[in-house]
Amino acid sequence: TPAKEGKMFLKALFDYDPYEDKAIPCKEAGLSFKRGEILQIVSQDDATWWQAKHEGDANPRAGLIPSKHFQERRLALRRPEILVQPLKVPNRKSSGFRRSFRLSRKDKKTNKSMYECKKSDQYDTADIPTYEEVTPYRRQTHEKYRLVVLVGPVGVGLNELKRKLLISDTQHYGVTVPHTTRPRRSQESDGVEYIFISKHLFETDVQNNKFIEYGEYKNNYYGTSIDSVRSVLAKNKVCLLDVQPHTVKHLRTLEFKPYVIFIKPPSIERLRETRKNAKIISSRDDQGAAKPFTEEDFQEMIKSAQIMENQYGHLFDKIIVNDDLTVAFNELKMTFDKLETDTHWVPVSWLH
Ligand code: 5GP
Repeated sequence: TPAKEGKMFLKALFDYDPYEDKAIPCKEAGLSFKRGEILQIVSQDDATWWQAKHEGDANPRAGLIPSKHFQERRLALRRPEILVQPLKVPNRKSSGFRRSFRLSRKDKKTNKSMYECKKSDQYDTADIPTYEEVTPYRRQTHEKYRLVVLVGPVGVGLNELKRKLLISDTQHYGVTVPHTTRPRRSQESDGVEYIFISKHLFETDVQNNKFIEYGEYKNNYYGTSIDSVRSVLAKNKVCLLDVQPHTVKHLRTLEFKPYVIFIKPPSIERLRETRKNAKIISSRDDQGAAKPFTEEDFQEMIKSAQIMENQYGHLFDKIIVNDDLTVAFNELKMTFDKLETDTHWVPVSWLH
């Protein structure tokens, strides 16, 4: 088996401290780890306790970690509600505008069966983040760039960062052109500001799952299609996409190999200090009417970031704290440079 040969690597999707674990037979024998760390699996012989080391750790001694099955089972038993109700993240664009990606049939079924078999101890564990098998991946020069997904709460500065990155190299970075059903304005051209389509076609496209996200605004639909991402990548550009974090799981495919960056606010004290004279643009239609940040905006931003991190943190490849914009931008730029040159851990399913 790959584990026996020491060739199995798992990305931890949760934090683990054996000293907090009542079930572990011997706390000293446990291996502690943090979400996002890569573990090399040494043995899976025991159904409940696997043996693992931190990847790259020269120390040959392995420690005990809960097996995937065991961890899933006890989490499901302890917190069945996490399986059933995804937490609502406050809308990052305009309120009530962005609608969630349609639940796929499988999701619906999964949720339903989870409701139904609460008592029977048979959970569908697909949505419990435990471990993900990963493998090293380095982009070859002939390959398309990976999709880069930026997520973060309203007002955190994600759009400024995106804009700065775009203008830093317009040949290299690209963004998607959204679809809309509203009439084209005279100064606009089809395919530039928007791709203009009929309501009927938009609805058909929604039915056929052509959109990553879409919403309704003043009786018109707007949305980002999967094909619009493809066309940026086809131009041999790095595609920058900002979406709600719940859409990320639909994008995690071999084709896009998304790299997910979470833009995180600093502490509330730092927000007060650094954003005192700044303005918040809460949605694209507020562009002309940016308002100064209020204390509530800061609190909302922190709360929303916490919810995102708790619920979707296992999907984040990188977290960048936007305290000072210039510092955050440099970190972002460095992250992009590394993404193109370095080896990264990706799900094994992306390589075939
Ligand atoms: P406008 O019609 O003035 O160009 O844009 C109206 C609104 O459409 C904007 O406030 C913006 O929030 C929304 N919008 C533009 N593009 C997209 C998109 O790709 N997806 C979603 N959900 N909304 C969009």
